[in-house]
Amino acid sequence: MSDSRQRATQPRPHGRTAARPPREITSAYVKERAIALGAHLVGIASAAKLNAFPPDPRWPQTPERISPYCKSVIVIVSRIPVGAFRCRNNVPVQYLDMLVMRRMDKISYVLAQELEAAGHPSFVTAAQETDWSYKRASYGRLSTRHLGVEAGLGTLGLEVNILTPEYGPRLYLTGILTELELEPDEPMAEQVCIGESCSRCLHACPADAVLHFGIDKRACATEAQEFGFAQILRFLDGLADGAHPDHAAAFRSRDFFGFWQGLLRVVGSFGDCPRCLAVCPVGNDYHAHLADVQKAIPEKTPEKVALGRQYKELRARHDSGALEAPGLSEWNRRWVGPQGYQGIVARQLQAFKAAQRARAVPEATTAAPDGE
Ligand code: SF4
Ligand code: SF4
Repeated sequence: MSDSRQRATQPRPHGRTAARPPREITSAYVKERAIALGAHLVGIASAAKLNAFPPDPRWPQTPERISPYCKSVIVIVSRIPVGAFRCRNNVPVQYLDMLVMRRMDKISYVLAQELEAAGHPSFVTAAQETDWSYKRASYGRLSTRHLGVEAGLGTLGLEVNILTPEYGPRLYLTGILTELELEPDEPMAEQVCIGESCSRCLHACPADAVLHFGIDKRACATEAQEFGFAQILRFLDGLADGAHPDHAAAFRSRDFFGFWQGLLRVVGSFGDCPRCLAVCPVGNDYHAHLADVQKAIPEKTPEKVALGRQYKELRARHDSGALEAPGLSEWNRRWVGPQGYQGIVARQLQAFKAAQRARAVPEATTAAPDGE
C-alpha cells in the first residue's frame, strides 16, 4: 500500500499542457499529474477493495457494477472557496457548488484522456447523479465520500460527510475509473471528526437530519434540495389533484421559479443547505477564515444540545461493548475511523497557531525597524 497521499499543493504552471507520460505509469505520477491539473487533493482506491466493501451491501455502489474491467479508482478533490461561507445567505455557496464540480470534472476528464492515450481505458462518473434503481434514486452509482475514505483522504463525520484534515467537509469529490492497476492508498485509521463532544453540525442543522454517524436523507432534502425532484413531484401532484386550482398563480409562484433556477444553474436542486459544512471546525480553512463568523450557531437549541449528549452517552456504551450503535457498527467503522478520535483537530489548530505566530514575528520586525 502506498502512504504517499498527495495533499494540497499549488497547481503547477502549464498543468493543462498535455503531458508525455512515463513508460510505466505509477500512482505517484498520476497524483502529481492530477495536482498539476488543479486537483486540491488526490488519492487512489483499489477497485477490488471497493467491490468487497460497498457502503450498504443491500444497494452495492461498486465499480464492478459499472465496469467489470476497472482496477483502480483515482479520487479527485476540489475544495469549495471559503469566502462563500462568510456570506449573509446560502446563494454564493450554491452557485460555487456548480463551478467547483465543473472544474473538478474538467480535471478528471483531462486525466482520464491522458491515461487512455497511454493505453489504459479510463472514464469519469457523474459525481452527483443518483441511480433510479438504487433506494428510490437516493444513491449514486458510487458513493464519492466512501471513495474518498478508501483513497485515504479523510473519514466520515457525525453527519456522514467526508472530513479531510485540510478542508473538513468543504469540498466535492469524483472518481476516475481506470483499467490501470495502481498502488492504492491506505484509509486513515484515525477518526477526523471530533465526534459527539463537538456536535456542531447537529446544532446547526435546520432539518434535524443529523443522526449518530448517519443522516436522515429525506429530512435533509427538505433544506438541501429545496427545489429538487421530490419537490417538483409534489408541485405536479398538487396541480393534478386540484390542490392548486389557480394554475396561472402556481406557474408564477416561488416554487416554479425555483425549479427553473435549478435547471438553469443547479441552484436549489441540490447542495442548497451548507450549514453542516460551514460550522465544522476541521481544516485550516476553518481556522483561518471561518472561526470568527461561524463560532456562534444561531440554530442551536437546548433540544439539539440534549441530543448531542445522548449521542455521547451512546458512544460511551458502544465503546464499552454494552451495545452497538448502528452508525459505528463493525461494517461502518472502517469509514468513520476505527481508532476513534485521537485529537487530530487540536493538533492541527496548535500547528496553525504556531505558524501564525511565526509569520507575525518577521512582520512585526519589518513594521517597526530600529530607530523609529
Ligand atoms: S445539508 Fe443542511 S439539512 Fe442536510 S444535514 Fe447538513 S445542515 Fe442538515
Ligand atoms: S461539526 Fe464536529 S461533529 Fe460535526 S462533522 Fe464536524 S467535527 Fe464532526
